[in-house]
Amino acid sequence: MADLKTAPSIDIQKIRDQFPVLHQKVNGKPLAYFDNAATTQKPQSVINTLVDYYQGYNANIHRGIHTLAEKATKAYEESRKVIQRFINAAEGEEVIFTKGTTEGINLVTATYGRQNIHKGDEIILSGLEHHSNIVPWQIVAEEKGAIIKVIPVLEDGSLDMASYRNLLSDRTKIVAVNHASNSLGTVNPVKEIIELAHLAGARVVIDGAQASAHLDIDVQELDCDFYAISAHKVYGPTGTGALYGKRELLEAMPPYQGGGEMIKNVSFEKTTYNDIPHRFEAGTPNIADVIAFKSAVEFVSKQGKHAMAAYEHELLSYATERVGKIQDVRLIGTAREKVSVLSFVINDIHPFDIGQMLDARGVAVRTGHHCTEPLMNHFGIEGTVRASFAVYNTMEEIDSMVEGLERIVKFMK
Ligand code: PLP
Repeated sequence: MADLKTAPSIDIQKIRDQFPVLHQKVNGKPLAYFDNAATTQKPQSVINTLVDYYQGYNANIHRGIHTLAEKATKAYEESRKVIQRFINAAEGEEVIFTKGTTEGINLVTATYGRQNIHKGDEIILSGLEHHSNIVPWQIVAEEKGAIIKVIPVLEDGSLDMASYRNLLSDRTKIVAVNHASNSLGTVNPVKEIIELAHLAGARVVIDGAQASAHLDIDVQELDCDFYAISAHKVYGPTGTGALYGKRELLEAMPPYQGGGEMIKNVSFEKTTYNDIPHRFEAGTPNIADVIAFKSAVEFVSKQGKHAMAAYEHELLSYATERVGKIQDVRLIGTAREKVSVLSFVINDIHPFDIGQMLDARGVAVRTGHHCTEPLMNHFGIEGTVRASFAVYNTMEEIDSMVEGLERIVKFMK
């Protein structure tokens, strides 16, 4: 059995010590938290940042000239710079703070989408998408009379790139795909997807919700037009995230919501809008969480994303091998390139029952369709059991899950 220091440059015990929530018993057993694709746990540094803000300098930003307001504004705008570097955007102005990936995509559909999608235009999505990268496009497609086309998913959970090439045409206005799938872990060839879309004259929106904790994100290298992430998937707080957009696109887009902060001048006759990114940040934002988003990214930078990803990969390989050997297990999603997500079903045992029985052993997994109903339909299943790993997980925790699964199989026979 591997020890806690499998990856040479990473000390897992030291990392675990930074996550207070992990040190508890659930149903009398040590917690093994494998629901990281839903949300990651938060290190003490992120929690401290939240407490420091509320205890030390809680104030509204941008408008005040008093000391606390200036301190809060500085911290908020510093966070924008840190997120800019995290995704390698060319400028801080290209980073808009949102509630998360869902709001980022809705912002694009409601502004760029409404402005640029017309009757008969085509929007290409993939069969791997989360509902939040399907439904907003359906809303705008319905409103405008546009058509949604879907890149098929192959048996291993990767995208059928030959079909994608065939779907592209001069009618394609938008291609919107995820960087990594939340249900299967598949890492999509987004660079190639973007290049091909651009050759067809389309714009590309990348849902980076599952990529941010595991993969390098370089929006300039990718040359994507928009890229959306959520802080809570990368050790940060819930209710905040960021949307990247190319400057020339953001500047040409109409506002998303009206209110304070997004304007330059208001009169009843005529309102002029603020410059980017503030034009898209109406109202008092989620100040504390945006500031703590910076601490989350700093946590990742400190460990080193590559070292983290290498360790998570070891966890995934170990879990795939062990779970794959359990009688009657069918792994769903076996693409060559994956982030640390393991989805499976066991014969006709309902995933919900498996989830409940694992919970009784302190093992937290997610069960169900994972907000990807079309993908589940494609595989002819209602849902899966999903174990998704983060840097603080251990091989011993995987052993505990496997032991639980073996018992379930035995018990249910
Ligand atoms: N896209 C993917 C691939 C996801 O996994 C998720 C969340 O599970 C989302 C989008 C939505 O993210 P949020 O709920 O943080 O807005």
